[in-house]
Amino acid sequence: MVCLNMRTIATRLMILSNLATLLDVQPRELADWFWVAYTDAYDWVVEPNVLGMGTFALGELMITKPYVSGAAYINRMSDYCSACAFNPKTNCPITPLYWAFLARHQKNLMDNPRLRMPYVSLKKRSEGRRGKDQATFQILRDALMAAEPVTPKDMP
Ligand code: SF4
Repeated sequence: MVCLNMRTIATRLMILSNLATLLDVQPRELADWFWVAYTDAYDWVVEPNVLGMGTFALGELMITKPYVSGAAYINRMSDYCSACAFNPKTNCPITPLYWAFLARHQKNLMDNPRLRMPYVSLKKRSEGRRGKDQATFQILRDALMAAEPVTPKDMP
């Protein structure tokens, strides 16, 4: 039971909230979706977990930086990548989404001391890669809005 609960919390925070945040989903809409979709949707779980931690909707009230990550972190912390059509080291869209997120929100986040290194790395990212990051964001946003699946062939 504990393991199931930890796995539920991990997917809510590390996977679904991460993906939603990287795609600029409205935090309130995401929290409302969790209320419907998860069996452990209690107010003490969903509201702080999604609004406070998962989406950074409360700013630095609960955590010191947005809880976002690229594919390497998901690959390290879970076994999802081994069964995925994407490869976390080559064509996975999560890492470009991560960089596109940092680029879009640079004005608000670049002074956060815990994001100093990621912003140094973003600065070194070539214009071509940054363009692909943004294109990946647009492809996944459009697919999400249309409720369409995304495959490796759709990647820029
Ligand atoms: S390879 Fe698949 S499971 Fe792994 S981070 Fe990318 S999309 Fe997610």
